[in-house]
Amino acid sequence: MNEIEKYISGMLRPGIAALKPYSSARDEFTGAASVFLDANENSLGGPLEEDFSRYPDPLQMPLRQALASLKSVEPGQIFIGNGSDEAIDMLMRAFVEPGRDNIVLLPPTYGMYSVQANIHGAEIRRAPLHTDFSPDADAVLSVSDVHSKLLFLCSPNNPTGQCLPEDFILEMLAKFPGLVVIDEAYGDFSGRPSWTTRLAEFPNLVVMQTLSKAWGLAGLRIGMAFSNAFIINALNKIKYPYNLNSMTIRLALQALQQPDSVQEKVRILLAERERLEQALPLLPCVEKVFPSDANFLLVRVTNADDIYRYLCAQGIIVRNRTKEMHCLNCLRITVGTPGENDLLVTALLEVREEEK
Ligand SMILES: *Cc1c(COP(=O)(O)O)cnc(C)c1O
Repeated sequence: MNEIEKYISGMLRPGIAALKPYSSARDEFTGAASVFLDANENSLGGPLEEDFSRYPDPLQMPLRQALASLKSVEPGQIFIGNGSDEAIDMLMRAFVEPGRDNIVLLPPTYGMYSVQANIHGAEIRRAPLHTDFSPDADAVLSVSDVHSKLLFLCSPNNPTGQCLPEDFILEMLAKFPGLVVIDEAYGDFSGRPSWTTRLAEFPNLVVMQTLSKAWGLAGLRIGMAFSNAFIINALNKIKYPYNLNSMTIRLALQALQQPDSVQEKVRILLAERERLEQALPLLPCVEKVFPSDANFLLVRVTNADDIYRYLCAQGIIVRNRTKEMHCLNCLRITVGTPGENDLLVTALLEVREEEK
C-alpha cells in the first residue's frame, strides 16, 4: 500500500476494509465466449421484443470509458450509481461507522445528506452558512473531530443556487479530517471548471455529478462519484453488483455521444434564468431574487405559504423552502421553458388581486 492507500484505508470502516465482495458470474469470466451457461439466466429469452435475458455488466466498463473521456479522468476514478443518491449511500456505507462517526453539513443544503446519515446511524454536525449563504470555515472546523468522515459541500448549492468560494473549498481540503465531498449536480450550469480537474492534488477529494439535471436524464437514474482509484474501488466493492440496468446503460451511452445538444439546452436555460432574474424583482410579491449559478432561483416573497398555495391552485408547482435555515418566505423555482416561465410571471403578477 502506498501512503494515500494507507491514509484512506485507515478511514474506511474496519468491516468494509476487510470485506471480500460478492463475485458474480460475469465478474469471474473475462475473454471471448459465445455460450453463457454460468448465470442461470433464461437461455430462451424473455417475453419482450428486445432481449433483456442477460445480467448487465457489473463494472459498466463501456459507460465508464465514455464518461472518462468526456470528463478527462481515468475509468478507474469513476463510480456510477443509480443516481447520485446511490453515491451518497455508498460513501456513508464505506466510511461512516454507525454510532461512532459523524458527517458535517452546511445548512441550508440538499436534504438527502441528512436522510442518508439518519439511515446509516451517523451523527450529523452542522456549520450553517451565513445569512448571505457564504460558508463559515471556522465553524466547520470547530464542529469537526477525528470521527468526522464526510463533509458535504454542495456547489452550486441547493436550495441557495450559489457556488462555494474556491478558497473556502481549498481550506477544507487542507484542514478537514475526513473526505471532502463536492456535489456538482448543478455544475454544468455554473460555467466554472469542475473539481474533477484537481483530483490528483487531493486524496481526500470526492466529486459527485449526475445526468439528472443539465443532461435532462433524471428518469434514467445515473449519478457519478469521481475520486482516486482506491476510494472508487471501495465503493464498487460494496455496491449492488447490478446497480445499473441494461437499458439505463445503453441509453446513457447513446446520450453521452450528444454533448452538443446538452450545451445548447444549457445555453437556453441560462438565458431564461436571466430573463426571470430581470422580471421577478419587478413583481409586487417578490422581495428578493438570490444570485444563482444553477437552473433554479431562490426567491424571497411576501408570504411563501400563501403564494405556494396560490400557485398550486393555478397548476404551477414550485418548492416552498420557507422552513429551511435562513430561507424564511423563500420559494425555489426551477427555470422552465420560455412558455412556462411566462405563465409563472403572469401568475405571480396577479397574486395581489387574487388574494384580495
Ligand atoms: C438533484 C440533485 C442531485 C441529483 O440526484 P440524482 O440521484 O442523481 O438524481 C444530487 N445532488 C443535489 C444537490 C441535487 O439537487
